[in-house]
Amino acid sequence: MGPNFMTSIVTGFEIAAGINAETLKRSSAMARPPCCTILLDQTNAGMNAYTERLRSMALQAGIKLETETYPANAVDLFERITVLRDDPVVDAVATLYPLPSGVEPVDLALALGPDKDIDGLHPLHAGRLALGVPSRAPATAQACLLMAQELAGSLKGKKVTIIGASRIVGRPLAQMLLDQEATVSITHAATRDLPSYTLRSDIIITAAGVPKLLDANHVAKGAIVIDVAINRTAIGLVGDADQAALSGIASVITHVPDGIGPVTTACLFRNILEAAETASSIV
Ligand code: NAD
Repeated sequence: MGPNFMTSIVTGFEIAAGINAETLKRSSAMARPPCCTILLDQTNAGMNAYTERLRSMALQAGIKLETETYPANAVDLFERITVLRDDPVVDAVATLYPLPSGVEPVDLALALGPDKDIDGLHPLHAGRLALGVPSRAPATAQACLLMAQELAGSLKGKKVTIIGASRIVGRPLAQMLLDQEATVSITHAATRDLPSYTLRSDIIITAAGVPKLLDANHVAKGAIVIDVAINRTAIGLVGDADQAALSGIASVITHVPDGIGPVTTACLFRNILEAAETASSIV
């Protein structure tokens, strides 16, 4: 990397299109399109807008999405989940956040069972991932891994710091990076001296949800920054990386929200396809 390089901001559209094309090929070969039921609070404008975006993109992958509103209380929700679990024309079920109050995501995944869980939250999927055997991982973690491979090539021996240790990003991603023989540091809100980890990293993957968390004090010259976070601010959607401060320092920063976002959606559709393929191979 020369002394005066430009930091590029990259989107994930091309990677997403490649995954969706492959999903479309496989879904078209099935007797019927893979079908996912999405449960959401239809009075929540953000959830509705997200679902409409998913619906328009699902066409590119040959995936059918059905939506329904959350039942009035947690007991009814768990009952509905067991009905969907046993419905042969439903291949997968997604429950959008925030979940109805008092509902724990892993309990929902347990009620649904592993076959229709496309968020990788069922302990069978999470356990397989932890053991380093093929598994169905959360879509966001898959998207981060694909983006890291696209931007850095082989991850073998690369120093990677993950910021954020949630069930859908940091924890599963750390396992996946380990499987690629990267050297992984997982940092979180209680980490002391964050720059001591990030400054020595080839790749920083940040999913904290804190605008401007990552600035010039955190990033070594030429490092790759994968910004997963989507923060709503007065100036619009921003990630965790302070793009202006990192200009000329990071080699690449992923766009927010069009970096990891479209790749996550494509990985979610692929998880739905794989749930449908598994179901049809059992029938
Ligand atoms: P979460 O709240 O479950 O986890 C946040 C993690 O960040 C925690 O481990 C916390 O300890 C850590 N953290 C918080 N403040 C920190 C700080 N100052 N320094 C270091 N670590 C800190 O969140 P989540 O569900 O994992 O989502 C994280 C972000 O990623 C959010 O902004 C969310 O909108 C975004 N997201 C994006 C996509 C996508 O497709 N692009 C998908 C999922 C989540």
